Amino acid sequence: MKGVITIAYNNLEKSIETKNILVEKLNKAGFEISENIEENTELIISIGGDGSFLNTVHKFDFVSIPIVAINTGHLGFFAELSPEKIDEFIVSYKNKEYFIQESEPLEVIISTKNESIKLKAVNEIVIKNIQSRTVHLDLQVDGIKIEHFSGDGMLISTPIGSTAYNYSAGGSIVYPSLSLLQLTPIAPMNTNAYRSFTSSIILPTTSVISISPEFEFENSILIVVDGIEYNFAQIEEVKIYKSDKNVKLLRLNGYEFWDRVSEKFL
Ligand code: NAP
Repeated sequence: MKGVITIAYNNLEKSIETKNILVEKLNKAGFEISENIEENTELIISIGGDGSFLNTVHKFDFVSIPIVAINTGHLGFFAELSPEKIDEFIVSYKNKEYFIQESEPLEVIISTKNESIKLKAVNEIVIKNIQSRTVHLDLQVDGIKIEHFSGDGMLISTPIGSTAYNYSAGGSIVYPSLSLLQLTPIAPMNTNAYRSFTSSIILPTTSVISISPEFEFENSILIVVDGIEYNFAQIEEVKIYKSDKNVKLLRLNGYEFWDRVSEKFL
């Protein structure tokens, strides 16, 4: 049975053009192509930027099939190749000249007075005010009170999300094979009136983070999951922990995380 390669792409002209070229070349190389996950899908190719990569993972519900990204977008931190490198990629893929970088997504359970909603994140989960107002949140880890936070919000990042919003918020860049949760404050207030930690807190992946808004803020909390906003009424508690799922990124032999960081950020 022929191996299936599932392709996902955004609607940029460059991405559609790349998708057409890719389909032709993969067909010639003996692969079947689909835009859905098939029983024998062995690889997912995401065409676009990091935003498209995030969409692809969400669209296929964090399926445990390796994903490789072709960058036609802006930054392309997740991307492994440019459209010009498709021929070389197909040869390397067939020769198995790659390895799989596993990453641990986050799961969040949002409990409101009436319901409980579960979501997953590749990069991060952000809890902030719906408007540009200070948010006051109680933070507990494994049932132990850590702080009463006041500021713009709290961001919980995965290791592979550490180079995204977390980094802009002053969080640390994390080597992707490390297993941890990073909790980074966004514009924390640290005054005589309000005391909040001003640095990131690093936690083991066995931790369960619990964030509860003060009663008067239960209707004004925004949960942002990989850039997608969710707004629920009467939020009582937001629980965040490592998911059991695994996102698998295909990396070609020779990939070096720190080379990628300096190439994209310096
Ligand atoms: P977006 O415009 O899709 O992305 C914002 C920028 O973040 C883009 O340049 C994107 O790369 C890059 N990016 C995404 N994931 C990354 C990662 N793991 N490492 C390094 N860079 C990464 O924004 P969005 O739709 O609002 O949200 C998508 C993601 O953007 C979020 O998960 C969040 O991490 C990030 N974001 C960052 C900030 C900030 O830095 N202040 C604010 C909001 C959101 P491409 O150009 O290749 O798409």
